[in-house]
Amino acid sequence: MNELEQFREETREWIETSCPESLRSSTGQRSGTTMGGRRFPVFAEPAEDSHLWLSRAVERGYCAPTWPREYGGAGLERAQAAVLREEMLRLGAPPPVVSMGLLMFGPTLLEFGTEEQKQQHLPPIARGEISWCQGYSEPGAGSDLASLQTRCEDRGDHYSITGQKIWTSGADVADWMFCLVRSDPGAPKHEGISLILIDMNQPGVRVSPIKLISGSSPFCQTFFEEVRAEKNALVGPLHGGWTVAKRLLQYERQGISSSGFMGPTRGTDAPPELAKRYCGTSDGKVADPIIRDRLARMEMDQHCFNSTVRRTADEARAGNDVGTASSIFKYKASEDAKKRGELMVAILGTQGLGWEGDGYEPFEIDQTRTWLRSKGNSIEGGTSEVQLNIIAKRVLGLPD
Ligand SMILES: Cc1cc2nc3c(=O)[nH]c(=O)nc-3n(C[C@H](O)[C@H](O)[C@H](O)COP(=O)(O)OP(=O)(O)OC[C@H]3O[C@@H](n4cnc5c(N)ncnc54)[C@H](O)[C@@H]3O)c2cc1C
Repeated sequence: MNELEQFREETREWIETSCPESLRSSTGQRSGTTMGGRRFPVFAEPAEDSHLWLSRAVERGYCAPTWPREYGGAGLERAQAAVLREEMLRLGAPPPVVSMGLLMFGPTLLEFGTEEQKQQHLPPIARGEISWCQGYSEPGAGSDLASLQTRCEDRGDHYSITGQKIWTSGADVADWMFCLVRSDPGAPKHEGISLILIDMNQPGVRVSPIKLISGSSPFCQTFFEEVRAEKNALVGPLHGGWTVAKRLLQYERQGISSSGFMGPTRGTDAPPELAKRYCGTSDGKVADPIIRDRLARMEMDQHCFNSTVRRTADEARAGNDVGTASSIFKYKASEDAKKRGELMVAILGTQGLGWEGDGYEPFEIDQTRTWLRSKGNSIEGGTSEVQLNIIAKRVLGLPD
């Protein structure tokens, strides 16, 4: 048995004994997952079990498997981290914590942060103690992010931030924000931007939740009035935040692509099984030939997607820069998530359009909300049109 196989065996055994049964599902997604944070950690039910699962994962550094041990990670190789993910999925174990800190901010800080910033911020993220939100979009700056206007003024011993952010996911529960600000209004727009860290628990920060089409309110408008940020809170150089911001977006897009948008492929909640249950069978196959055809296309798309992800991971291991490939994954995963949502409505029929009431099982209501939520997938983290522009320019090398 080689080392990786041995690691797989040990990991499987560890998950079997460490992840409470109550949190496991055929999809291995989300149930039992916490967003972390000190304000409102959002532990899923049963809360004690999800807390236990988190604390066991923290002991091993498995919330941030590839981060160095000194910052709360497990120091795993990428191949080992992939094994951990595969085994968790196989045994239906949810990620112990899912957060912007883990997926986006932490990896960026590892690349661009000072030693002091890494020591201050990474271990609490890896323990699920602190949650972060992303202050990028503004009412006049979404796809054209570099038009942002939130002001950052140097007040000698600190910076003062004034302005407005919008669509800030989790701002109402976040402890900190990584925020793009205009630090030099006189410079060309990409050159006057800094990335600064803001403590959300202070006077001058006001957060107002916005309701999504799916009925929940995970995102907000965030207002800053003379808010304080320390001198050591800049990530990367003053006025040099654009490069850091772009890298963070690549991590965000990778995270969006890998966070289960494609949905379960096996177990009783997988679309082929649901189609048999809701549309009936003929000769053991899904009875409706059009649904059958759509299911086959979706599976093929999923295989191609997974193969492309694996090929790109190999290229990354060989030392090639594959950062812009995150736009391909983000585009494909989010467009497929929307198609999947439409297919689920076609399979479930009117049962897939329920909002509330006794006529629907909780699973069916979840499907409706997941379908509606999927509409945002191709907007958040940069729209599909913007990803296509990036792919055209940076991957295919087409002219501007
Ligand atoms: C669920 C969700 C969560 C989000 N969470 C956050 C968050 O936590 N933090 C944060 O900062 N932001 C967040 N956002 C905001 C998101 O990043 C922006 O909505 C997105 O970047 C698009 O910006 P916009 O809404 O201003 O649309 P606009 O930029 O105004 O775009 C409007 C339309 O024009 C198209 N378009 C614009 N420019 C071009 C172009 N050059 N070529 C072709 N088409 C173009 C777009 O594709 C889109 O269809 C979130 C959004 C959603 C939906």
